[in-house]
Order: sequence, then structure tokens, then C-alpha cells
Amino acid sequence: MPQDNSIVIETLLRLTRSSNVRRGVLAAILPFLGVVAAFGIAPDTVAEKVVVAPVVEAIALTPVATSSTPEDTYWREERIQRGDTFAGVLSRLRVEDADALRFLRSSNEAKGLRQLVTGRVVRAHTADDGRLIELRYSTGLMVLSAKADGDRYRVTEEVAPLERRVMMRSAEIRSSLFAATDAARLTDAVAGQLADIFSTDIDFHKDLRRGDRFTVVYEMFYDGGEPVRSGRVLAAEFVNAGVALQAVWFEHVNGQGDYYTPTGKSIKKAFLRSPLEFSRISSGFTQARFHPILQRWRAHKGIDYAAATGTGVKATADGIVETASHDRGYGNVVVLRHQQKYTTLYGHLSGFARGITRGARVSQGQVIGYVGSTGLATGPHLHYEFRINQVHLDPLTVAMPDAPPITSDLRVAFESVARPLAQRLTLLRSTNLARLD
Ligand SMILES: [Zn+2]
Repeated sequence: MPQDNSIVIETLLRLTRSSNVRRGVLAAILPFLGVVAAFGIAPDTVAEKVVVAPVVEAIALTPVATSSTPEDTYWREERIQRGDTFAGVLSRLRVEDADALRFLRSSNEAKGLRQLVTGRVVRAHTADDGRLIELRYSTGLMVLSAKADGDRYRVTEEVAPLERRVMMRSAEIRSSLFAATDAARLTDAVAGQLADIFSTDIDFHKDLRRGDRFTVVYEMFYDGGEPVRSGRVLAAEFVNAGVALQAVWFEHVNGQGDYYTPTGKSIKKAFLRSPLEFSRISSGFTQARFHPILQRWRAHKGIDYAAATGTGVKATADGIVETASHDRGYGNVVVLRHQQKYTTLYGHLSGFARGITRGARVSQGQVIGYVGSTGLATGPHLHYEFRINQVHLDPLTVAMPDAPPITSDLRVAFESVARPLAQRLTLLRSTNLARLD
């Protein structure tokens, strides 16, 4: 179908929290646009914040000018091609408006709209006489707009309203997790989330078996049909050595969320094993060792992690900052208190993360400071202590408590999110659909 015969209809669906409203709107519009396939799975099964999702679909039409009235307006879309001129793009967009052309081609304000970057998308909203109502130019992350405002044009710049699609991919492990996630064309960000989600149950270096499989349901954000970035993993299943583990993302009312099993058990531990991602343990937990600076034997009631100065140090559990100060021995030190009886200590920091002051609330995995060598330290490292009721324990061997499960007040909301996702994961496992993408 020739490009000129297609009219792009852009429908902005203001999705609300009410999935019923959303389902109704989508059901009403999808048959016309034929974008059912684009969603992968029904977006109404997912709890989300209020988002604006433009649904853009080219519909090939034979000319329908016979039915047009003076009020008819159209959105047209063009992609900038190699060798294009600005006038050429506007002509393809059927902008026939001398004032608009003069403004767009010469004004300083409209400079950003004239960048001829191959592949970028320009959309024009015109009246059927060619008068320009609005021109929108997308850089991928930003949208520049020139909008008719009386007898002039107003240029604004805003963050691109991205279309959110829920995607699903499956793959079988043949060599490594990352070879499989690459084969499934998952972004590194999604692959990393997948590994994180199951890391308390699966050691991806040791436990993987040939034939292990995973399915992941995640968000992708699109601008004008082009993927811009991936979002959050909403649900995932990992079949490891014949055992299926499932995880579902659930967002609490305060905007924070966690992964749970479909029955509502938290899949994370209350404490991360380590406050640093990849690091070498330079000194383990002992009752006695020779202190290199004090030059005498004393107990080392923590773990030392060697890491470069400036490496982010994470809170190992949700908690409250009890201390963020300087100590002669520990240097810059943060002490966190968790659920009354637990405390964790992070020493020799080069500095504190923003907002880390006494009384501040932190969440698990949040960066609270940076590796350094302040206090009595021979080189940059993190000194980490874990205490229960003031008794020092080895964080590498102590049995970590589970994070709390879904509370009874959230049970109904949780079920409405988790059940359909878990059913879908289970269904996919028992069919070959999982191989399609
Ligand atoms: Zn130490």
C-alpha cells in the first residue's frame, strides 16, 4: 500500500487505575487498530501506575475524502530518511501552510524541530486544508512540539509519552543463563532482574542444568513503534532441575513493591548476604586475628570486602539509620537498625549517600554510602558487621530470616494481580507456546 494512502491515527489512552475502565477502552479500540498482537498479553492483568500510552497504528485507507468535512483533522507520521530536506518532510506530511512553514524553517525557537536525523519520527496534525495544528518531533526520549496558538506557534519540549507493552519471552538453558537471555532477545536489564529475582534460590554459577527453562513477563516502552527501553519484570518462572519457581511483582500502596510467590510468600530474604555486588572477601569473620595496623591479635567480628574506592554500598535490609558519623576506628560509618533486634554496620566509607542521616528510612539494596579507607584501614575496603541483639554473627553463615509475606489487608489486591500471571506462566510451561516469540 503506498505510504501516502495511509493515515496514522494516534489515540491517547489515558489508562486509569481501574482495570475495568481500561479493559473497556482497549476492547473498544483494539478491533479498529488491530494491535492486539502488539501487547503480548493483556495489559489489564497488571497493576500499574497511571500512565499515558499512545497507541499508534498505521491504517491503510483508500482515500475517504468524500466523507470529509471542514472540521476533519489528521495526524500523519513520517520517518526522516537519508538525504531528506526539512521542506521535503513537511511536504510528505501534507503541511500546506505558508505561515507555519515560515515559522518552522526560520525561527530560532523551532530549531530543534529541524534536525534531520535519519530514522527520527515527525508527526503533523493538520486540518484537511493543510493548515498546521501541531508538529511533533520525537528524539526518542523527548518530544518537541510546535502548536498553533492564535496567530503564532508555541514550541514546547516534554518527555516522550511512551507506550507500555507487556512482553513475554521464554528460553531453554543450553550453556549459561546469559547465553539463553541473549537468545531470547532480552535486554541486559531484564536478564539482570531475572537473575536477581531467583538468586536466593538458584546459584546461577553452580545450579544450572541443561534443559532448565525460564519464562519472563516484562514491560517494554516504545516510542512510535520503536523500543526505547525495558521496564520491570512483572512475573517470571524458572524451572531448575525439574522444579518450577515462580515470582510475581506486587506493588504496595506506597509505590514500593516486592516479588512474591503466587501464594504470597516473599521470595527474598530479609537480609542480602552481602552489601556489595561483586567483591572479594579480604578478611573473614574470626574470633582472633592479627590486626595489621594495631599490630596485635584481636577478633575480627565482621567481613572485609575489598573493592574500589567509590563502589556503592547497599543496605542489606530495610531499616532505619541509627548512626551516620565519623569514628576513629571505623572511619565514616553507618549503622542500620532492622526490626528491633538486628543491626548492620558499614565501616571505612569514603562518604555517605545523599539523605543518609540519623533516623532516615532505607530500603534493602539502597546505596547508603561508598567504599573508602577512612579510619583504621590499610586500603579501600568495606568492613561489614551483622548483629542480633548486639551479638556479632558471621553474616555469611548465619541463617537469614525470610522477608515478611503479603499481609492480610493486601491479600485481595495481591490475588487479583498474582493469580492471572501465575496461571499464564503455568499454562505456558505445559504448552509449546513458550517457544514462540
Ligand atoms: Zn574489618
